[in-house]
Amino acid sequence: MSVSLDTEHARSWYAATANPAPQRPALEGEIDCDVCVVGAGFTGISAALHLAEQGLNVVVLEAARVGFGASGRNGGQIVNSYSRDMDVIEAKYGDETARALGDMAFEGNRIIRERIGQYAIDCDLRDGNLFAACNAKQMQGLIEHQALWERYGNRELELLEGDALKREVVSDRYVGGLVDHSGGHLHPLNLVLGEAAAFESLGGTIYEQTPVESLTHGAPVDLRTPRGRVRAQRVVMAGNAYLKGVLPEIEGKSMPCGTQIITTEPLSKARARSLIPNDMAVEDSNYLLDYFRLTADNRLLYGGGVNYGGSDPADIEAVIRPKMLKTFAQLDDVKVDYAWSGTFLMTLNRLPQFGVINDNVFYAQGYSGHGVTCTHLAGRLIAEVLTGREARFDAFAKLPHLPFPGGHLLRVPLSAIGAWYYQARDRLGI
Ligand SMILES: Cc1cc2nc3c(=O)[nH]c(=O)nc-3n(C[C@H](O)[C@H](O)[C@H](O)COP(=O)(O)OP(=O)(O)OC[C@H]3O[C@@H](n4cnc5c(N)ncnc54)[C@H](O)[C@@H]3O)c2cc1C
Repeated sequence: MSVSLDTEHARSWYAATANPAPQRPALEGEIDCDVCVVGAGFTGISAALHLAEQGLNVVVLEAARVGFGASGRNGGQIVNSYSRDMDVIEAKYGDETARALGDMAFEGNRIIRERIGQYAIDCDLRDGNLFAACNAKQMQGLIEHQALWERYGNRELELLEGDALKREVVSDRYVGGLVDHSGGHLHPLNLVLGEAAAFESLGGTIYEQTPVESLTHGAPVDLRTPRGRVRAQRVVMAGNAYLKGVLPEIEGKSMPCGTQIITTEPLSKARARSLIPNDMAVEDSNYLLDYFRLTADNRLLYGGGVNYGGSDPADIEAVIRPKMLKTFAQLDDVKVDYAWSGTFLMTLNRLPQFGVINDNVFYAQGYSGHGVTCTHLAGRLIAEVLTGREARFDAFAKLPHLPFPGGHLLRVPLSAIGAWYYQARDRLGI
């Protein structure tokens, strides 16, 4: 199986403002290792770093560059919990699972902050994220959201209505919002580059431009790359939406989805702050949501849209700029400097998929567009299960991995119809 990928970073604002990082060599020849991690995004690098901290011999193989995938090009929003929230988990999977996942719902966020502190990672961390309501029904949803997260121990929530909301987002689009002061935003590419450097400082090895083209199960697992071969006692598959055919066992029950981001030209600090005065990350509460924030150099970074199946629109700016102007009409005269697309992995129940195949090939994927925090949790849980502490990994692994209705051929059109239905409800506020 040959993997075809562009192998340099997308031309994003993140790539243009990345901290200096070495170009790692591609793997040439044969090597043996304890653990081979496939994919150098947040999941892979978080797992690798946790494992290296425990003294394991870990090699990371990355098809392109560290942070090439969703991790290096996302909205940078630090949002707690999971894409499907604890109320759905309680209702569908029972008290025991809800308690286990609820205890971990805010941990990924804490891990990120620990990493930034411990390894002095320069990635523009800011505090606070805001969920904005476009109508009364969504506002009621946020009131329930607050009560739910408070039950699981988050005491940093603040409900905002009317003028109070306008002090955080200066837009006529919203009737209220919920601030999570423990959330925030950051430069995700610089975070993953910093974590990769931390991993290497502990003796870990990363090969870039090294796509795994085949994996043969066994002990050891045999991984083939264009000019190399790795025999690994254990493997961590962390290719998420970019994996494309290497491990069919985990690729059939999920769907790659594209989403797009634009970034304006730099604004004056005063103009930037006239949009989001306290520099929070914002996402609305629609089924297909808009998400936005300021950058450290006072641009507005604005994302939205979902393309089921992961294809990119021909003109990203034409898709996203009207969304930005709907929120901030006052930016009509502002130029867009960057526009890019990325692919995340959606699951049918919108909960991540963790598991193990043949006792030695571990995987974590499918954060359904809400992965900045959960990938960091996944990395810790993978390190736990690989060092004999399986309980918390298993709490996720036992969640069902459901196929999309319509199978490989019809999952894209059927999901688009479903999304259209929910979008129509959002527009009508019902
Ligand atoms: C545009 C966009 C905006 C988003 N915004 C947010 C947000 O604001 N907040 C949030 O919480 N979540 C957001 N997400 C989701 C979040 O970014 C992802 O859930 C998360 O980054 C997934 O990380 P990962 O490491 O699992 O996968 P990725 O970051 O996609 O990394 C996978 C890596 O594996 C490599 N790979 C794949 N196949 C192979 C192979 N065969 N051999 C070797 N390497 C391979 C790829 O090259 C890639 O580098 C967004 C996603 C996108 C696309």
